[in-house]
Amino acid sequence: MDHMINVVQPSLGERELAAVREVFESNWVGRGPRTGAFEEAFARHLGVGREHVTATNSCSSATFIAFELLGVGPGDEVVLPTVSFVAAGNAIAGRGARPVFCDVDEATLNPTVADVEAVLTERTKAVVVLHYGGHPGAVAEIAELCRDRGIHLVEDAALAIASTVHGRACGTFGDMGLWSFDHAKIVVTVDGGMLYVRDPELAARAPKIAYLGLEQRAPGRSGSTGHFHSGYDQALRSRTRWWDYDVVSFTGRSTTNDVLSAIGLVQLSRLEEFVARRREVARAYDEGLADVAGLRLPPPLPAGHTSSYFMYWVQFENGIRDQVARDLFERGIYTTFRYPLMHQVGAYGSDAVLPRAEAAADRTLLLPIHQSLSDADVDRVITEVRACTAARLASATC
Ligand SMILES: *Cc1c(COP(=O)(O)O)cnc(C)c1O
Repeated sequence: MDHMINVVQPSLGERELAAVREVFESNWVGRGPRTGAFEEAFARHLGVGREHVTATNSCSSATFIAFELLGVGPGDEVVLPTVSFVAAGNAIAGRGARPVFCDVDEATLNPTVADVEAVLTERTKAVVVLHYGGHPGAVAEIAELCRDRGIHLVEDAALAIASTVHGRACGTFGDMGLWSFDHAKIVVTVDGGMLYVRDPELAARAPKIAYLGLEQRAPGRSGSTGHFHSGYDQALRSRTRWWDYDVVSFTGRSTTNDVLSAIGLVQLSRLEEFVARRREVARAYDEGLADVAGLRLPPPLPAGHTSSYFMYWVQFENGIRDQVARDLFERGIYTTFRYPLMHQVGAYGSDAVLPRAEAAADRTLLLPIHQSLSDADVDRVITEVRACTAARLASATC
C-alpha cells in the first residue's frame, strides 16, 4: 500500500524552528513581545484594531472567556447549530445556561437564518455559529437578525481563519470571534487560540479574565508577573508595590507564551500560500468527482464569499457512506466526519429532533485536504473515491 493520506496535516518546518530558537536565545519564553506581535499581526489580518484581540492557549478556553465576558448564566439560553464543536456546548452548560440546538442546511451543514430564528425565545442571550468547512454560511444575515433582536453573536471561526464575506473577515460579524491554532488547524502553533471582542470595554477585560482575573496595579498586560521585562521599565519606575493586584473574575489561566506565538507569526505569514494550495485541491476534487453517480459535492460559494478550504466534504446516497469510508481506509486514505451532532450527546439533555442535520450526518464524509497533499495524492483520492462509490452503489465490494 502507498503511504496513508491524512485528512489534515500541519506544515511546520525550518522557519518555525528558527523562530523558536530565537525565543530560547532571548531568554524570555513567557507571554511577552512575540505574543504582542502575534496579536498585532492577527488583528491586522482581520482588519480590526489591535486592542480588540487576545491570544489564548486554545480556542476552547477563548470560548469560556467569551461567555464569562457576556455574563451568560443560569436562566439564559444560548443557541448553537447541532453541528458544532463540543467546547461551545461545554462553555454554555458549564456556566449553568441551557444550550439550545438548531438545525442546519443539509448541503452546507451551516444553519440558515430561519434555523436560528426558529429556536429563539425571550431567554436567548446569545447565538454561536461556526462556518462549516470554512464556508462563511449565512453569518452576515444571522448577525443582522441578532442585532435586531438584541442578542449577542459569537462566531466560532476556528475553521474560517481566511474566510470572508464581501471582504469582511469571518469572526468579526458578531460581538466576539474565536480562532484555533491547534495541531489540526491551518495555522498551527501546536496549541493556541485567539479571541476578538468588538466592545472596547469588554475587550480590555479579556486579557485579565484569561489570566486568573488578575488586575495588576503595575502597568502592562496581564501575564507579565514574576519576571521583569524591559518593555515595562519606564512605567514601573514611577510605581511602588508593583506586585499588588486585584481579582476581577474567578477564572483559570488561559494565556499563551512567546514560544508558541513565535511559531504563530511564521505560520500566519504562510497562510495565503496554505489557502491557495487548499483551493487547488478543492478545485481538483470539484472537477474529478463532479460526475460520480450517487455523490454530492459541496455547493459552490455564493458571490462575495471566500473560504479557507478547511474541509472538503462529500455526501453519499443510499446509505453507503460508512462502507466507502472503510474501503478508503483500507486503501490508505483516511477520512472522517465532523462534528457528531450535539443534540444527540446525552449530557446536554436535548430532546430536539433536527431532521436535516441528522440526514446530513449520515451522508457526509470529509476527504483529505491540506497544503502538503501532492498532485499524485489528490489523484489517488479521486480515483479511489470514484471506484469505491461505484462499487458500493452496485452493492459490490470495492
Ligand atoms: C478545533 C476547534 C475548536 C477548538 O479549538 P482548540 O484550540 O483545540 O481548543 C473549536 N471549534 C471548532 C469548530 C474547532 O474545529
